Amino acid sequence: MQYGIFSYPNESPRVGIRHGDRVVDLSVLAELDVFDFDSSVFYEPFLNEFIALGKEIHERARTQVQSWLTGNATHLEAYLSVDEVTMHLPVRIGDYTDFYSSIEHATNVGKMFRDPENALLPNWRHLPVGYHGRASSIVVSGTDVKRPFGQVKTNGMDAPEFRPTERLDFELEMAFIVGKDSTLGEPVSIDEAEDYIFGIALFNDWSARDIQKWEYVPLGPFLGKSFASSLSPWITELVDLEPFRTAGPLQSPAPLPYLASRVERPNLDLELEVTLTPKNGTPTVISRSNTKFLYWSMAQQLTHHTSNGCNIRVGDLMASGTISGKDASSYGSLLEISEGGRKPLTLKDGSERAFLADGDTVTLRAFGERDGNRIELGEVAGRVV
Ligand code: CA
Repeated sequence: MQYGIFSYPNESPRVGIRHGDRVVDLSVLAELDVFDFDSSVFYEPFLNEFIALGKEIHERARTQVQSWLTGNATHLEAYLSVDEVTMHLPVRIGDYTDFYSSIEHATNVGKMFRDPENALLPNWRHLPVGYHGRASSIVVSGTDVKRPFGQVKTNGMDAPEFRPTERLDFELEMAFIVGKDSTLGEPVSIDEAEDYIFGIALFNDWSARDIQKWEYVPLGPFLGKSFASSLSPWITELVDLEPFRTAGPLQSPAPLPYLASRVERPNLDLELEVTLTPKNGTPTVISRSNTKFLYWSMAQQLTHHTSNGCNIRVGDLMASGTISGKDASSYGSLLEISEGGRKPLTLKDGSERAFLADGDTVTLRAFGERDGNRIELGEVAGRVV
């Protein structure tokens, strides 16, 4: 199921599920005694307490909601139109880690930021590279994103200046939410890793390329990333994605044993789409990609994350890194699409973009379609102000 946190006007946020173009209020179902477990979790303003109940309870919730939906389609007080509710950040996010798991993206960025001949650094094919991000500035879809100021020093400048970024970008990513605490000092094995994943959601890791380029050496991304990241309001449970499983790219060299998965289809075949809509303008689809391109799987990311004994907690968020495909029509950032700003793209309204302009809205969408199964993962949108 797809879980989110919503509110009606003048009422407190609570838990709902997405059901077509409607939201089902699980607190109403709790009042109706639909559940055989402690359903006070559905009155909470975040999903954490529900997630912490564990997969067995999630499964019971699914069965009980579905059987109620089958028999009570006319029980209108539980159904709301998605247009009449306000969606909130679904999870109280403890820690946020951002990976760099698309080989196409890492290669494109390596060529631009470092050395075209040695775009991938020597560690890249051996471990899922990542960094610890900032959880406090993760916002729900629909929240405006303020163009950040930062220190910039580009080629030709004698000294750095503090000014608004001129290279504001989006990053097309998929995130997963941790569904179970692990214990400090005890790594999670690759075979257990998926037990620790509750679900996935679209994620836009907004980036200021000029700030990033000046600051990132030697410790990696900092203020060029931490001003905002946008999360979809709907978290799709991992179990709903079973029909869309697929093999990942061949990993060569073979990963070390602790990262070697026995799962045959560790990746997901989900279509991704990025739309850029200028202020008062026409939307233009600027990229189409797919989660199946990711080199490192979610299980490998989680296993690597805990392999030193670092513990993870319910509500932690781990993002994939920008998901790029093979060519410019499938690149997951403007940095790649515009080749570092050299080749602006033309939008449907005739305007050009190398990077984002004020008033631009970026919308990421994802869906899966396979063997008669279809799933929409909702969207994540944000406007630059
Ligand atoms: Ca990122």
